[in-house]
Amino acid sequence: MIIAIASGKGGTGKTTVATSLALSLPHRPLTFLDCDVEEPNAALFLRPTIETQERVGVLVPEIIAERCTYCGRCAEVCRYHAIAVVGQQVLVFREMCHGCGSCALNCPTQAIREVVNHFGSIELGHAGEIAFGQGILDVGQPLAPPIIRQLKRQALTPARREGVVIIDASPGTSCPVVESLRGADVALLVTEPTPFGLHDLRLAVEVARDELGLPVGVVINRAAARGAAVRGADAGDDGVERFCAEQGVPVWLRIPLDRRIAEAYSEGLPLVRALPRYKDQFLEMYQQMMKHLAASRVLRGVP
Ligand code: SF4
Ligand code: SF4
Repeated sequence: MIIAIASGKGGTGKTTVATSLALSLPHRPLTFLDCDVEEPNAALFLRPTIETQERVGVLVPEIIAERCTYCGRCAEVCRYHAIAVVGQQVLVFREMCHGCGSCALNCPTQAIREVVNHFGSIELGHAGEIAFGQGILDVGQPLAPPIIRQLKRQALTPARREGVVIIDASPGTSCPVVESLRGADVALLVTEPTPFGLHDLRLAVEVARDELGLPVGVVINRAAARGAAVRGADAGDDGVERFCAEQGVPVWLRIPLDRRIAEAYSEGLPLVRALPRYKDQFLEMYQQMMKHLAASRVLRGVP
């Protein structure tokens, strides 16, 4: 069971939800992957022991000048515009290269050799009984999806897939999120009851449910008591609740606006360690999620 936890924007409490869910579930094996590779911070809360660290990268082209005829074929076949031929010069934009190898394959004079361009690291370890993995993109590197792919490939052995896997996705709705969500069984979308939260939730539902076809559910963080408006700096409304009702998206958990939760976060303390009574709520949320998945399988005729 792979549960991907995402949010349409940063700062909604996605990591709080992901780490608290991991610490609440008794299921084993349980794996936690921090796929927010541009800013991985789940380790601050789970405090894992890192056992292996590996540099990762892609193969990028290097031009052998004496063999190059400047025919331009490599630039023509590159879907990512990572290579250009300008007069008697071949320019390679390494940071845009996805390492697909098309340019080398199509070069008529074998003037391209491939060299490794490292762009980040993958760390694997354990936080107690929880298997932990995180990807860390090097500063200034723009390509998050390959490192997310590689992290998932290395950490998700068949045995681990048999258990519960919690994926803390990147915030937003762009390629890193799509890569984090790919292959998940369900997407848990964390939002807040504000117009911004609603706007980004709409986008997150479009990507996770409408484009990737995943069952989705919502956690409303910093929620008011049901039926009441949130007051103060985070002044909210019931737009998120109405949207979820209209779209048939279940709300599996509401976490109230509570200063103690913010204080725990600032101290690097997981929510369920600071306020242990929330463990039952996270467990209940997991059970609701499983029921929802079972029901949607029946509806879709999946055995
Ligand atoms: S395809 Fe090969 S020969 Fe043609 S410009 Fe590119 S590197 Fe040079
Ligand atoms: S390896 Fe692929 S992405 Fe990179 S420059 Fe060559 S064709 Fe473009």
